[in-house]
Amino acid sequence: MHPATGEDQEVTAGQTWLARDMTQIAANLAAVQARIAAACQRVGREPDSVELLPVSKTRPASDVLAAHAAGYRRFGENKAQEAEAKASELAHVADLDWVMIGHLQTNKAKLVARFASEFQALDSLPLAAELDRRLQAEGRQLDVLIQVNSSAEDSKFGLPPDAVPAFAASLTSFDALRVRGLMTLALPSPIDDEVRACFVRMQQVQTRLREQGVAGQTYDELSMGMSGDFELAIQHGATVVRVGTAIFGQRSYPAVG
Ligand SMILES: *Cc1c(COP(=O)(O)O)cnc(C)c1O
Repeated sequence: MHPATGEDQEVTAGQTWLARDMTQIAANLAAVQARIAAACQRVGREPDSVELLPVSKTRPASDVLAAHAAGYRRFGENKAQEAEAKASELAHVADLDWVMIGHLQTNKAKLVARFASEFQALDSLPLAAELDRRLQAEGRQLDVLIQVNSSAEDSKFGLPPDAVPAFAASLTSFDALRVRGLMTLALPSPIDDEVRACFVRMQQVQTRLREQGVAGQTYDELSMGMSGDFELAIQHGATVVRVGTAIFGQRSYPAVG
């Protein structure tokens, strides 16, 4: 049988669709990966210096399984409850890691402390304190990236670039949080130079953090770039690109909040 072709008469219509979805997701992953490699080559970076993080928010667990079958094990989600539900549904898959990439309300810290392996949107001390407390209770640790508001717009989330060094220094008392780097959403602009300015600001913040140097913290990860701007982000040092639409297709419902 060739499930990928959908030609076998014995598969049901539903199974055929699933097989086609799987093939499509694998093809999209390969296409994005090729664009990552090309973007790396243009600036003399190694292709494996950039991680493709598939963003599975709003997508069913079957989409995660399709990407997992294609070799991916870390998945980006932006809502705690949705992610936790997917993590439970896929608990039988031993090597999945859940990366929370969206703003988190303090009252959801308990949930995230249970199942997430990384949190990329840390931007407040009360949240850091609550995450740390809940992680200690679970006997777990969490890799964290500090979210930066790099667009100088009135974006709701992320710290202003100038506030990041002091914020990073104040995280040292939270033993369960391992600071690994920075995350941002660039300005959603059709003008490359405006987007580029956001990524350049991130590199500047990273440099300042390295100069400051806080024991136990590393700042190697720069999570920036999405479906519309990941090549530009790679040009400016992204180590993680968070890609949803270009892999899984248009989301059928919005994923805000
Ligand atoms: C949804 C989301 C993405 C992926 O966006 P696409 O444009 O679908 O690639 C990346 N980062 C964050 C924080 C998101 O919420």
